[in-house]
Amino acid sequence: MLVEYDFEIKKHTSFKIGGKIAKMIFPETIDEFIQSLKEYPQAFVAGNLSNTLVSSKGFGGILISTSKLNEIKIEGTKVIAGAGVKGPKLSQTAAEKGLSGLEFMIGFPGSVGGEVYMNAGANGQCVADVLKSAKIYCPQKGLITLTDLGFGYRTSICQKKNYIVLEAEFELTPREGVKEKMEENLAFRKSHQPSLALPNCGSIFKNPEGYSAGKLLDECGVKGLSVGGVKVWENHANFIVNYNDGTSSDVINLMREMQKRVKEKFNIELKPEIRFLGEEL
Ligand SMILES: Cc1cc2nc3c(=O)[nH]c(=O)nc-3n(C[C@H](O)[C@H](O)[C@H](O)COP(=O)(O)OP(=O)(O)OC[C@H]3O[C@@H](n4cnc5c(N)ncnc54)[C@H](O)[C@@H]3O)c2cc1C
Repeated sequence: MLVEYDFEIKKHTSFKIGGKIAKMIFPETIDEFIQSLKEYPQAFVAGNLSNTLVSSKGFGGILISTSKLNEIKIEGTKVIAGAGVKGPKLSQTAAEKGLSGLEFMIGFPGSVGGEVYMNAGANGQCVADVLKSAKIYCPQKGLITLTDLGFGYRTSICQKKNYIVLEAEFELTPREGVKEKMEENLAFRKSHQPSLALPNCGSIFKNPEGYSAGKLLDECGVKGLSVGGVKVWENHANFIVNYNDGTSSDVINLMREMQKRVKEKFNIELKPEIRFLGEEL
């Protein structure tokens, strides 16, 4: 199994922020993944780091990367994917077979494990709609298979119970026009979200019930507001972009200011959608 020490993570995160990871492990099979999880129960499991702000001061612990667990199997309308499979690749593979249900994954850079963990979604679809079952590592019981992952808005049972996604099985529907739907999703994204040429982490805050975080923030006048090398994107107030080699503290300080303004104006607490890893965050 590949192991790296003092791994420079910055260029591997979608935010292009982050210091050194003390020890990074890259399992290549489910058995190796389980072995690493047993050996290092406190390790942080990372997919594609497109929803995680990594501290610029780094992380002194162990990170297990799923990037080499990237096998896809198709059996009729069933699609089985390893935790590290990238969403856009999975979406395209399903589309080649005329299978519908994963078109939303085309537009953002998550891994299957991260997407199940977050119940990722977009354009009216989400993981919960199509996930049939998942192979899970449960710290108490070892390998289990779950059909009910307690999905909610950007949440799953994995967040409450520290379950780790090893592999996911999706049940899709044969349909005409899958590729066209993907094109539509990509076009929508181009006009509504920053591309990765402007490093970012997707939506920063969850939508509070009954509200749009982006709208609340917009009404507080935060678009373009900057701290250090990061700023709120001018076209959508729920995105922070790293336009000039910003740090994790820049992001945290900007997030605090955004939260403060929304609290003062609307008495609503914005909760982060992004996850955090590392020292002094
Ligand atoms: C430009 C851009 C657009 C985006 N648009 C959207 C969008 O439209 N909709 C949306 O929902 N999200 C969006 N995102 C956010 C992000 O891509 C998703 O949340 C995605 O699901 C994260 O996957 P990841 O592999 O990058 O997760 P990571 O950032 O690697 O991890 C996120 C969390 O999942 C956990 N995790 C990762 N792998 C596993 C595993 N195998 N088992 C258990 N836990 C695991 C991590 O420990 C961490 O807590 C966007 C991001 C970007 C950069």
